[in-house]
Amino acid sequence: MLSGMLDLLLPPACLACGVRTPGPEALLCPACAALLDEADADALRAEILADAALDDAVARFRYRPDGPLAPVFHALKYGQRPRYGRLLGRSLAALDLAPADALVPMPLHRARFLERGYNQAEEIAHGLAEVADLPVRTDLLARLVFTDTQTKRTRHDRAANVAHAFDAASDADGMRLWVVDDVLTTGATSRAAADALKAAGAAWVGVAAVAWTS
Ligand SMILES: [Zn+2]
Repeated sequence: MLSGMLDLLLPPACLACGVRTPGPEALLCPACAALLDEADADALRAEILADAALDDAVARFRYRPDGPLAPVFHALKYGQRPRYGRLLGRSLAALDLAPADALVPMPLHRARFLERGYNQAEEIAHGLAEVADLPVRTDLLARLVFTDTQTKRTRHDRAANVAHAFDAASDADGMRLWVVDDVLTTGATSRAAADALKAAGAAWVGVAAVAWTS
């Protein structure tokens, strides 16, 4: 079932173990796809939503550094494989998302966008948009600060690092918005994005991610 949600045209080999996949339309072989765990929705909400502008937080899978999604995300972010994002985005259709007006990809700072050539969160949002029939709005949220890579930071450092990192457009006024991201960690970045969108008048803001590092 999970492998079916990761349908894709490429690649011919499993991204996690390298074995030839039985069909041409999966990121992972059935054995590796069977290792995927669903994200624990209640635990995720308890961790991410506390006293913040975010109205909901959902993720499709649990992320583990040694799990089969790690090479998929690595290829998506550093391996010039934007189309993997489309496929991962389609897997988000399995989540029961509250009604919204638009999807807002978590923006990259322009310097990083130029370096990578695409925003993986935008690709994920387009994948979800194909099945959720929602518009993708890249004009509502901009990233002002070029933040360091966050993997070695403490929770407090991360929150301080992103507190004023975003600027939202007044067109967000009155809208219900799902911010779409690849991986949720502490949620600090998502909360900062939601703060900016709410300050611009958004009526409701949730974050939907492919995976959560529970
Ligand atoms: Zn495999």
